[in-house]
Amino acid sequence: MQCWIGEQILEKAADSLRPLAKRFACITEESLAERFRPQIEKLGLDITFFTFEGGEVSKTRKTKELLEDALLRAHFGRDCALIALGGGVVTDLGGFLASTFCRGVPLILIPTTLLAMVDAAIGGKNGVNTPAGKNLIGTYYLPQLLLIDLAFLKTLPPAEQKNGMAEVIKYGLIQESDLLLETNIQEIVQRSYQIKKRIVDADFHEAGMRRILNFGHTIGHAIEVVEHYQIPHGEAIATGMMVESLMSQTQGYLSEESCQTVIELLQKKGYLLTLPDIDRIWEAIAYDKKRVGATPRYVALKEIGAVHPFDGAYCTPFNKSHLEKVYEIACVSQSS
Ligand code: NAD
Repeated sequence: MQCWIGEQILEKAADSLRPLAKRFACITEESLAERFRPQIEKLGLDITFFTFEGGEVSKTRKTKELLEDALLRAHFGRDCALIALGGGVVTDLGGFLASTFCRGVPLILIPTTLLAMVDAAIGGKNGVNTPAGKNLIGTYYLPQLLLIDLAFLKTLPPAEQKNGMAEVIKYGLIQESDLLLETNIQEIVQRSYQIKKRIVDADFHEAGMRRILNFGHTIGHAIEVVEHYQIPHGEAIATGMMVESLMSQTQGYLSEESCQTVIELLQKKGYLLTLPDIDRIWEAIAYDKKRVGATPRYVALKEIGAVHPFDGAYCTPFNKSHLEKVYEIACVSQSS
């Protein structure tokens, strides 16, 4: 897999795309097709657009089926390649589609949100949502080419930037603390890509180390469930990172001083860190994918920039009384 990161790199990508297929299908959201069609057409390749409405509610088996039928009607087959242009919704859906269309066609990912650039488009996981939960149906499938053009970020609303930045902060907290001080966007994206790729290369199918990417997500996902996904993803993950840092502290893995530094950093970055009702959070945690039997687990920090390895399991159990203790001290920590 090749990855290009930079400003205006799309213009230089045509030569790398051309050998991949005779025809290209560009899967994207309607609004993004309107906005970015000229940039894609400038590639000078035989590209047909296939669009869907977009948004998390569209990331379904139904949308995938509609797109597949449209591709087949337009006589796309094994000799085509698929370009997924958009945020994580498009790269997840497009990646899944490419992995099964004619038993797999070459995939090119062009992420257009910060979250997709630093997270969703890296690592080969794709999928769709079902009424039973998010991302439950999908495959592992790597793109041939990942084109991260920072020019797309110019039109991205601040709230979406903040969603992506929560994942960047996560990389700083679990791997490289100095990333937390970085201000240059190209450096931020480049280093985030390298961190996620390194982790994924070490554990592609998430049997161990890849779990560290879930730091903040055990609680963060529970918050999203409790809030019926009406809370921005970044806010939920930031609050999750606060709770899981406090849990690391109360269980003796992380110093109180480091934990306080994490909370202050999250506040400085503008995250609200609002805790929903504990009983509802505990109930929602029951659905977390890292739990073993009846016991939920979380990724614990041992310092800023490093997680506790727990003999290769990279996560550790907790119970409701641990969470109650965290809730008791969270208010004090946030105001001190
Ligand atoms: P998204 O794809 O819904 O995009 C967010 C919004 O930004 C949309 O309204 C979109 O139209 C708009 N947008 C996209 N690019 C734009 C641009 N350049 N300018 C202006 N507006 C733009 O959301 P997201 O946050 O990018 O991705 C979330 C999805 O990613 C979730 O479905 C999540 O499950 C998935 N995800 C997957 C992985 C993975 O490893 N596969 C990792 C993290 C997240």
